[in-house]
Amino acid sequence: MPMRCPFCDADKESLKVIDSRTCEGGRSIRRRRQCVLCDKRFTTYERVEDPIKLTVVKRDGRRVPWDRAKLISGLERACFKRPVPESEILRIADEVEEEVFRGHDREVPSTAIGEGVIGHLRRVDQVAYVRFASVYRRFKTLEELVDEAKAVIDARRFDDPEQGKLFIESRRKPADNGENKG
Ligand SMILES: [Zn+2]
Repeated sequence: MPMRCPFCDADKESLKVIDSRTCEGGRSIRRRRQCVLCDKRFTTYERVEDPIKLTVVKRDGRRVPWDRAKLISGLERACFKRPVPESEILRIADEVEEEVFRGHDREVPSTAIGEGVIGHLRRVDQVAYVRFASVYRRFKTLEELVDEAKAVIDARRFDDPEQGKLFIESRRKPADNGENKG
């Protein structure tokens, strides 16, 4: 079926793609389009015939196929009994999945997925964030975990959804490499 503008019925030549991303774990492509005749915007989804396959490389070197259900269950564990609605968990899963598929070709280290989740959770729920980070970053001592929790509490005082993450990152390892982002 040829695509037309759902508002003014302009044909495909008048429709431009303004954003395009894979979703559902590479099984479909979501395109945001704009009609140059009436200026309205709409979204289309295209099924991918041959889904993009992504392999997750675990810390011990084992390779497993990308599994969205595992991402969601990890998020649910972190958010257990926290005031985070299921819709929010699914939204985070969507965003992490999108970022992972956009940023990686065939393989993705499991640590990159973990860091992606951490970045999103931090802005949603501080307890869920520390819970997840404590599993993912495998703090070796109680002090490391306490430092991380303190950094979260400090950051909350200055919190700004965009700046907060950078702030934490620069607080977290000041002695590691002498690098200071801000
Ligand atoms: Zn139109």
